[in-house]
Amino acid sequence: MATYDTYGKTNEGRTLTYAVVSTAANLANIKNIRMDNLKNVGIEAGSANPKTAIVWLSYNVHGNEASSTEASMQTIYELITEKQAWLQNTVVIIDPCINPDGRDRYANWYNQVASKPYDVKQVAVEHNEPWPGGRPNHYLFDLNRDWAWATQVESQQRLKLYNKWMPHVHVDFHEQGINEPYYFAPAAEPYHEIISEFQSDFQVEIGKNHARYFDQEGWLFFTRERFDLLYPSYGDTYPTFMGAIGMTYEQAGHGRAGLGINTDEGYVLTLVDRVAHHTTTGLSTVEISSENAGRLNMEFKKFFDTSALKYKSYVLKGHPDKIHALTSLLDKHEIKYGFATGGTASGFDYQKNKTSSMNANGALVVSTNQPKGKMVKVLFESDAKLSDPLTYDITAWSIPYAYGLTAIASTSLVAANGSNPHMKIMNQVMKANAGYIVRWNSIYDASFLAELLQNDIRVRFSEKDLSFDGKKFGKGSLVITNSDNRTNAKYSETVTKIANKHSRELYYANTSFSDNKTDFGSPDIKMVNKQRIAILRGDGTSSLSYGALWHFFENQLVYPITSIDTGDFSTNSLTNFDVLILPSGRYGRMLDDDTIDGLKAWVRKGGKVIAIGNAVGSFAGKDDFGIEENSDDDEDDDEETEEANLIPYDQRERDNVKNLITGSIYKTTIDSSHPMAFGYENIYYSLKLGGNSFKLLDSGYNVGYIKGDPVSVSGFSGEDAKAGLANSVTFAEKRIGSGSVIYLVDDVLFRSFWENGKLFLVNSIFFVNNNMFTL
Ligand SMILES: [Zn+2]
Repeated sequence: MATYDTYGKTNEGRTLTYAVVSTAANLANIKNIRMDNLKNVGIEAGSANPKTAIVWLSYNVHGNEASSTEASMQTIYELITEKQAWLQNTVVIIDPCINPDGRDRYANWYNQVASKPYDVKQVAVEHNEPWPGGRPNHYLFDLNRDWAWATQVESQQRLKLYNKWMPHVHVDFHEQGINEPYYFAPAAEPYHEIISEFQSDFQVEIGKNHARYFDQEGWLFFTRERFDLLYPSYGDTYPTFMGAIGMTYEQAGHGRAGLGINTDEGYVLTLVDRVAHHTTTGLSTVEISSENAGRLNMEFKKFFDTSALKYKSYVLKGHPDKIHALTSLLDKHEIKYGFATGGTASGFDYQKNKTSSMNANGALVVSTNQPKGKMVKVLFESDAKLSDPLTYDITAWSIPYAYGLTAIASTSLVAANGSNPHMKIMNQVMKANAGYIVRWNSIYDASFLAELLQNDIRVRFSEKDLSFDGKKFGKGSLVITNSDNRTNAKYSETVTKIANKHSRELYYANTSFSDNKTDFGSPDIKMVNKQRIAILRGDGTSSLSYGALWHFFENQLVYPITSIDTGDFSTNSLTNFDVLILPSGRYGRMLDDDTIDGLKAWVRKGGKVIAIGNAVGSFAGKDDFGIEENSDDDEDDDEETEEANLIPYDQRERDNVKNLITGSIYKTTIDSSHPMAFGYENIYYSLKLGGNSFKLLDSGYNVGYIKGDPVSVSGFSGEDAKAGLANSVTFAEKRIGSGSVIYLVDDVLFRSFWENGKLFLVNSIFFVNNNMFTL
C-alpha cells in the first residue's frame, strides 16, 4: 500500500510530493514506526527497539535526468504488487521528483522539439538542450549541492520532512554521460573520516546485490570510481553524515538522451532501458535493506554515539548579524546550540591556526554531544581530512570561515545555558534634529539600505569613521539626514518602520556637528545612488553564477535587477543602467573589440562593470583594464615545457594534481579603508575555487590580495597552484575615466553559502566610486 502527500511548493508553484510505501498494517502504525526510529537515536525522548528499515528513494534532483521520475512510478508499482513481502519490515519513502521546475523545463522543451519517431542521431536538436538546460531549479541552483546550505525552497522544505523520518538508507537517482553505462555503490575515495566501517561495508553489500541483477541481464556498470563522499552538501553525503547509507546511482542518459540516442559505442540507448536499470537498483536497495532491517537499526543507533569525537564544542563569536545567519542555518538542520554565560574556551583557534583561548561570555556554542554531533563536526571542522585529493567537488567549507566568525574548537564541553544575548531591535518613531545613523556590518544592513532606496528615502554613506555624542560609527555607516528628505512628510515613519522590519538600530543624531571633523555635510559623506543594475545571462555565462546573483537580488538583498541575454546585449543597451554585472563565464566571443571599446566608453562616462569569477579573465591583458594573469611570464613554466615530459601515462592524472585547487580557503589581506571593503576587517578568509591568479594591480586599487607566500587554512591545494597565488589579487577596482571596473576574482556568491563574502558585492554596487550624475 502507499499513501501520497505533499510537502511544499517550488518557486514556480509546482507541488513537492512524497509517497510512503509499506504494508497496510505498518501504514496504520506509521507514526509509531517513525517516532521509534527517532527515539532509537535520541532525537526524541523515550526508548524504543525498532526493527523496521526506513529506505528513502529520491528521484530527479537534476531535472533533465528524466528517467528517474519515470522509474519511481515503476518502482512503487512493483513494491505494492510483486514485492510486498519486503514491506513487512520496511517502509519506503519515495520522492518522485525533487526538482519539478527543472524537470518540466526539460520535458517541455523536449516535447516541443522531438521528432516522431524519435531521432537517434546525436546531432539532432532533441539531444542538445539550450542554455541553461533542465538540470537546475528555478534560480538555476544545483539542488545536489544545496543539502547542507539549504538556500533553496526545495531543500528547505525537504529537510523538514527528512528530519521527521531520518531514514537508514537514502538513494539519490541521477544520470551521467550517454556512454557511461551505470554507476552504483560502493562510492569512490575520498570518504570523509566520519563514515563508519558499517556504512562503508554496507555500500559494498548493496553494490554486490545490484551487480547480481545487472550480471543476469548482461548490463554493464562501474563502482568505486568518480563519485566520492566528502563534500557534505550532496544527496549521498548529507544523509551519510546523518547516519544513513547515502548513495548516488547514475544511469547513462542525462539531458542528451531523449527517448533514444546512438551512443559512441554503437548501440541505441533508450528511455525504456534507463527506466529498467533505475527500477532494478531501487528494488534491489529495498530488498537488501529488508533483509538487514535489524542490523540497519542497530548500526544506525551506533552512528549517533558521538562520544569519541575529539572536539566537544565549537565556540563562536562575532557580529550579532553573523551569529543570527548561522543559527538560522542550524535551525534548518535541527541542530541544537546555546549561548555561554561566562568562562573561557580553549582549543584550536581558527584565526591563529593554533591552540589558544577566548572569553566565552555571550558566545554561540555548538556542541557535538547531541544526536547530530557528527554533522556538527563535518560542518565546523577547520580542515576536513582528505584521503585522496582527486575529488568531485570542493574540499573546504568550514563554517567559521564562511560566516566570518572567530572560533575555538574545544576538546572539553563548554556550558551553554544562556539565552541569545542579541535582542530583536525595535526603534520608536522619533525625529532627530539632524537625522539617523546606522552602522554597516552585514548583509542585513544591505537589505535595509535596499528597502530604503526603493521607498525613495535619500541615504548617504560615510567614507570616514564617524563620531557623534561619543558614539563611534565605522566606515560605510549609513547617514539619513532630515535635510535630504525634507520634502517627504512621512520620512521618519518610513525609516523607522523599515529599520524595525530589518531589526536595525537607529542612532538619533540631534546635531550634524560631529565629535571629529566629519559632519553630516562633509564631502566624505556621500549620497548613495539608486543604482540601476543590469546582469548578463545566457550563452557564455555560467548558469550557476547567474542564478546565484538572480537569487541573491530577488530573495536576500531584495533589490531590482534587469537580466539581459548575451544574445540581445549591445553596449547601446547600457544607456539606462549604472552597473553591469558579468557573472562568471566565458565572454571571449561576446567581448569582441567593438564591444570592449563600447564598454570602455560607457565606463569612462561613469558606468561600473563588475566582473565575477572567470569573467575577470575576459579583461586580462586588455588595454586600460589594468588586470593581468599571473602566469604569463612565469619562467619556471617555460623551462618545464622545454623539457621532455617523462611522466608515465598512468601517472599523468596524479601528476596534474599539483596544478589543482579543489576549493580551498585562503587568508587574504583587505584594504578596509576602500569602500569595497567597508564593514570588513583587515583579514578575510576567501574560498578559492581554482588556481586562477591575477597580478596585483599597479594602477588601481588592490582591495583584497595575497602578498607573499599564500596561506591556505582548509582544503586541498596542489603545490604549484598554491605557489602561483603568491602576490595575487582577489578583489580590485580599476578606474577608467569617471567609471570603474571591479574584479571579484573569488566568486563571493558561489552556491550562496559563503555568507561573509556577500557584502563585497553590495559595497561594489553602492559604495565604490559612487557618482551621482545620470549616464
Ligand atoms: Zn545528476
